Amino acid sequence: MPASGVAARFPSVPVDLPAGEFVVRGVRLPGRADLQDISVSKGRIAAIGHELACDAPAVDGRGRLLTAGLVETHIHLDKAGIIGRCQICEGTLAEAVAETSRAKSGFTVADVYDRAAAVVEAAILGGTMRLRTFVEIDPRAGYRSFEAIKAVRDRFAPAIDIEICAFAQEGLSNDPGTEEMLDRALNEGADLVGGCPYTDPDPAGHIARIFELARRHGVAVDFHLDFDLDPTGSNLPRVIAETEARGWGGRVSVGHVTKLSAWRPDAFDAIGRRMAQAGVTVTVLPATDLFLTGRDADHLIPRGVTPAHRLAALGVTASIATNNVLNPFTPFGDASLMRMANLYATVAQAGTPEALDTVFSLVADSAARLLQPTSPYGVVVGAPADLVLFDAASPGEAVARIAPALMSWKAGRPVMHRPPARTYW
Ligand SMILES: [Zn+2]
Repeated sequence: MPASGVAARFPSVPVDLPAGEFVVRGVRLPGRADLQDISVSKGRIAAIGHELACDAPAVDGRGRLLTAGLVETHIHLDKAGIIGRCQICEGTLAEAVAETSRAKSGFTVADVYDRAAAVVEAAILGGTMRLRTFVEIDPRAGYRSFEAIKAVRDRFAPAIDIEICAFAQEGLSNDPGTEEMLDRALNEGADLVGGCPYTDPDPAGHIARIFELARRHGVAVDFHLDFDLDPTGSNLPRVIAETEARGWGGRVSVGHVTKLSAWRPDAFDAIGRRMAQAGVTVTVLPATDLFLTGRDADHLIPRGVTPAHRLAALGVTASIATNNVLNPFTPFGDASLMRMANLYATVAQAGTPEALDTVFSLVADSAARLLQPTSPYGVVVGAPADLVLFDAASPGEAVARIAPALMSWKAGRPVMHRPPARTYW
């Protein structure tokens, strides 16, 4: 496998953080105001309490927030970091798809590996420990991106859990060969399958075929859906109907659904309740949605960001996520979920302490419920010691201040350490 500079540096974890048996003292946990100690043993959280009696090496949490690792539910590692190879003239979704399609014909395994590894390292430095990445598998990409992302998944496994979604970005009925390639990828290490009805001339057929692949392999589905601001023509009712007909609730996600931002509250609430009932989960991608939508307006440009926290209040399992980093879909980015949460809170006008706490949950526990969990999530006794110390006193404050991750452990193993910045005057 290509040994990129980024990946090659990774094994040298900090030696100044304890591993194995240790205790983190004087931290604040989400939802609790008083200071707590957390002891770790054999990779799991052994005890939580006030001034725990424990002789193991200790880290002084200094009253900061300790949480489970953040959860990125929707990112495209394969096409990150290609902005230098693409042109943005119109800034539209159609242009982004076309420019990326052209670029990916030239992707090599080593190229994808290096770009993806850099993004994963940035995510880890931001406190992310679970991640779902889409990987385009079609006649232009071949299996090169897929092979590279599988290698990245294996390389970073000690630090982050990566789910791979085999993804039909450019359609199925209009792209002969793609369906068979997705089928093979699901036999060869992909965890779930993703569809994109808006690039297929037959959206309903596309949705049915993706569900059929999922049924055949017993995996979850994740659709890029309703990615425009026309309130009519939603494909969400069809996805809900297929979910219910196939008994696939809890294994169906939709991303973007920017159309819903154009719906009046009564219609919005009604579809939210139907999603909750059917077990259809949602990820909102604030950076991409802001960048690509509303391009036909020349003033009072609509925001086009569906209010995920309002869907969460209706009972929908909801998250917000990065989507793209430095490519024609989003020529910005650093894979920081805390920054994305802050961006979302600003756009969604979610500014009360309660609202900010909810926004935090959209990159934490709510996001964890959206993925296909392999282990319990949260700072609870018995859960894996996947812990991040943030430079804030509460989840809401962390979102408001874009608090950096200061140190983290995955299964009790040190992952990163960022000493607080200091001035010299
Ligand atoms: Zn996406």
